[in-house]
Amino acid sequence: MHTTALVLFSGGQDSTTCLADALSRFERVETLGFEYGQRHRIEMDVRHTVREALCERFPQWASRLGEDHLLNVDALSQLGGSSLTQEVAFAMQADGLPNTFVPGRNLLFLTLAGALAYRRGLQVIVTGVCETDYSGYPDCRDDTMKAMQLALSLGLDRRLVIETPLMWIDKAQTWAMAHRLGGDALVDMIVEHTHTCYLGDRVHRHAWGYGCGSCPACALRQAGWERYKGA
Ligand code: ZN
Repeated sequence: MHTTALVLFSGGQDSTTCLADALSRFERVETLGFEYGQRHRIEMDVRHTVREALCERFPQWASRLGEDHLLNVDALSQLGGSSLTQEVAFAMQADGLPNTFVPGRNLLFLTLAGALAYRRGLQVIVTGVCETDYSGYPDCRDDTMKAMQLALSLGLDRRLVIETPLMWIDKAQTWAMAHRLGGDALVDMIVEHTHTCYLGDRVHRHAWGYGCGSCPACALRQAGWERYKGA
C-alpha cells in the first residue's frame, strides 16, 4: 500500500487536478516544479497561490500537503529551439509536432523527480501527462511512462511507481474529475487560480479562467470547459 507521493506540479489545470487527486488518496504529498527559462514566470507565481488555496478551502488536505520543491533546469533552454523558451511564434514542425515540444523535457523531469522521491522517501510519482489531448508529444505516452518507471526503479534500485491519472481522459473529463474530488469549490479554484496559457496572459478572464483565448493551450482548455458544461 502506497502512502506517499511526489506530484509534478506546474500550477496548471492538469497538475492541480492531479494534486487534488493525490491529496485525496495519499497521507503525505509533496510537490515538485521546474524552472527552465519559461517565457513567462506566471506559472511559478500561481504554484504558490494554488497550493495555498487548496489548503484554505480543503482543510482535510492541508495536513497532507508537505514541502514544495523547485528545481532549476536551465539546460533545457540552452538546448533552444522551442517556442516555450524562446520568443518565436507557435507553429507545427516538419515532423508533425508543435514547436512547443521541448525534446526530452518529461524524461528529464521524471529522472529528477525519481531522484528527489528517492531522497525524500516518497513511493509514487504523479504526473498529469495525457495521451488523449497530448498534441502528439511522444514523452507523454503511456509507453514512455512505463519505460521511465522501469528505468528509474532499476537505476535507483528502489521500486518507484509512476501514476498518470489523466492518461486516458480528455480535458472535459479532467474538469469532471475535479468536480468529483472537490465539487464546485475545487472547480472554481482551478478556474480562478491555475494557469495554462502559453502566452502568460492573466488579463483576459473567461468562464474557464485567464488566458489569451487563442493559443493552443487556451483553445484546449476552453473546448474542454465547454464540453464539460454542456455535458
Ligand atoms: Zn493562451
